[in-house]
Amino acid sequence: MKSFDNEEVLRGVDLTVNRGEVVVVIGPSGSGKSTLLRCLIGLNDITSGEVWIEDDNFTNEVPVSIAARRKMGFVFQHFNLFPNLSVLDNITLSPIKNKIQTVTEAKTIAMELLKKVKLEDKINSAVSSLSGGEKQRIAIARALALSPEIMLFDEPTSALDPETVKDILNIIKKLSDTGMTMVIVTHEMSFAKEIADKVIFMDDGQILEVNSPDKLFNRPQNQRTKDFLNKII
Ligand code: ADP
Ligand code: MG
Repeated sequence: MKSFDNEEVLRGVDLTVNRGEVVVVIGPSGSGKSTLLRCLIGLNDITSGEVWIEDDNFTNEVPVSIAARRKMGFVFQHFNLFPNLSVLDNITLSPIKNKIQTVTEAKTIAMELLKKVKLEDKINSAVSSLSGGEKQRIAIARALALSPEIMLFDEPTSALDPETVKDILNIIKKLSDTGMTMVIVTHEMSFAKEIADKVIFMDDGQILEVNSPDKLFNRPQNQRTKDFLNKII
């Protein structure tokens, strides 16, 4: 459970993400999707309950361990990059500062990742000079730099122009093809259908339905899922 100022924004949430699984979270604005992701990664404290990352757990009393935190990469809707730093520094700052990689290692890894997101020519550019789509590609590269086992995406394309949305979705799709475990909050329903192993519908801080994409989109069981899908599709 998660409360802000005594207001419960997540209630009775019980969710298992298996290794290699792609879980897509959908639901109306304010339903608690971002809070759920932020609680999973320890960016928001939980009020009660527990989160398990493999054999490591945390509660409202025991904070997330550094080891568990490092297993998770997070991509935000609004990129959350350091705008005044270069692309390279954005990717290498944390691994170097936390002594996880040497400067040389960090640079090598950053260059490989920049190739993957097709931005190797921007390595020395200031992030502030990049387009939204480019920024999000850098944010994905940064999240991958610590070799996470789970990637969490919070509406990664909501802030982007329609023509760049596809680029980002393709990168995420490729990542899923490598077997990466992922939890993705998105409003891109056709993408959700294509990529998800299971889809979660949230409303009012609760998980109201968990199903295969086929079932959830074509034969939703919960009336509120039906109403939501009718509104947006
Ligand atoms: P979603 O991502 O589904 O749009 P959020 O997880 O952002 O929903 O928000 C769920 C609820 O929690 C909303 O009512 C929102 O106003 C509230 N909330 C989110 N973050 C905070 C915060 N830092 N302080 C107080 N209330 C918050
Ligand atoms: Mg949100």
